[in-house]
Amino acid sequence: MKLLNFIGGEWIEDNSLQTMPVINPANGEQLGTIPLSTKFQVEIAAQKAKEAQKQWALVPAPKRADYLYEIAFKLKEKKEHLAQILTKEMGKVIEEARGEVQEGIDMALYMAAEGRRLFGETVPSELPNKFAMSVRAPIGVAGLITPWNFPIAIATWKSFPALVAGNTVIWKPSNETPFMAYELAKIFEEVGLPPGVVNVVFGSGPTVGTAIVEHPDIRVISFTGSTTTGSKVAELGGKHLKKVSLEMGGKNAVIVMDDANLDLALEGILWSAFGTAGQRCTACSRVIVHKNVKQELENRLVEATKQLTIGDGLDPSVKVGPVINKAALEKINHYVQIGKQQGANLLIGGEILSEGELSKGYYYAPTIFTDVEATSILAQEEIFGPVISIIEVSSLEEAIEVNNGVKFGLSSSIFSQDINKIFKAQQLLDTGIVYVNAGTTGAEIHLPFGGTKGTGNGHRDSGQAALDVYTEWKSIYVDYSGKLQRAQIDNNA
Ligand code: NDP
Repeated sequence: MKLLNFIGGEWIEDNSLQTMPVINPANGEQLGTIPLSTKFQVEIAAQKAKEAQKQWALVPAPKRADYLYEIAFKLKEKKEHLAQILTKEMGKVIEEARGEVQEGIDMALYMAAEGRRLFGETVPSELPNKFAMSVRAPIGVAGLITPWNFPIAIATWKSFPALVAGNTVIWKPSNETPFMAYELAKIFEEVGLPPGVVNVVFGSGPTVGTAIVEHPDIRVISFTGSTTTGSKVAELGGKHLKKVSLEMGGKNAVIVMDDANLDLALEGILWSAFGTAGQRCTACSRVIVHKNVKQELENRLVEATKQLTIGDGLDPSVKVGPVINKAALEKINHYVQIGKQQGANLLIGGEILSEGELSKGYYYAPTIFTDVEATSILAQEEIFGPVISIIEVSSLEEAIEVNNGVKFGLSSSIFSQDINKIFKAQQLLDTGIVYVNAGTTGAEIHLPFGGTKGTGNGHRDSGQAALDVYTEWKSIYVDYSGKLQRAQIDNNA
């Protein structure tokens, strides 16, 4: 299937553009092609989005929200269809794909409700006969750049708050997962969103992404992806004085204390380490374990890992699907080799899987290293695959220090039954998200999502915080005294 750009409410066919294949990572089959757009398509999209925004901003927010309710219903109606395509283009197992589409539904309903809130403040004025308030104003055109690992959820985290707040959108999805963008654009069209309110431009990051970040009419950029790309986006966006929201990499840890419920910890680690084949930004890639329970936890983790079925995520019995592409497979393997060379102890996995049907796709064996040095490359860098490093500690203080001793700060988790340890940990763990007695994944859309240090730049997706990305504060003073009253002047002088 040949996917087309969606610009100004039309599907634009341009045979002069080169195309790129879209591959199913589970079996190497070609699913379709996308056009490799140029700066020109971004120019046109920006023009359409800017034009549409003038009217869109004047539509009352509750009416803008009505479109989001319709989108939620459409997503619900098409949930299974979308989940199947998601698994085919991205590889995550079908159960997780359904969960991801559900996040989109939840986000649509949550942001639709914002149409009747979008709260500002009213404050008493210091002067008589004067009214003071603040309102959220749209910024204008929002440029959204998204990764492949959550191809629909992340797009909804960004586009829905942008839309309800009165912005229009230009979205560049990842080349690896354009089908979710195509399906979502179709839904925008089906619910009758005015032309130009959402535009989808396919193409490479360095070309289309850069053109979006540079374009003078796109005033806010929301990016999710790797820290390397995010820094480039921030630098270029900063040069053009744009608001730039970044959600980037992670090196998330599960801490297991010696009073933890190990059954629970085991489940939490397996789910957050090997779910989505370890390719979640919140994936657990370090297990920081108290020395008293290390051996038992290791034994149980290895036994449980042996039981995981690996294969095409469309098969409901499969627990671990493929990784996204060959380059990812090689990158993961490269880190594993470094781990071995640097003396980490490989307990299980550590290889590319190529037996039988697996040879057609990109599969990596769920891998566990132990006795990993907290400062080693294995324990410091984002691998983005099914690889965990077990690090031994002797106290809660040491566990917190190890957790915080990386350049990222997205998600962390602690398993303990001691309320004092738990509260101390939640205060001191330097991550944007902290889980207690659960793995490092499982965020809900009505709380802020994002991280500290190298994971972000102070903004958040989801929750009320998302509205801060797509709005400017406007303060309004209404003086009904009939005379010029001067505020902030020392009237007692
Ligand atoms: P990338 O950084 O490679 O790509 C992200 C997006 O940026 C893609 O659409 C890509 O386009 C585009 N891009 C690439 N180069 C540029 C550029 N120079 N200017 C503008 N845009 C560009 O990340 P991945 O897609 O590989 O996603 C995985 C990463 O995302 C991991 O690091 C993961 O941790 C992070 N992530 C963070 C989350 C968070 O909330 N903190 C959530 C989910 C993922 P193209 O299609 O050409 O690749």
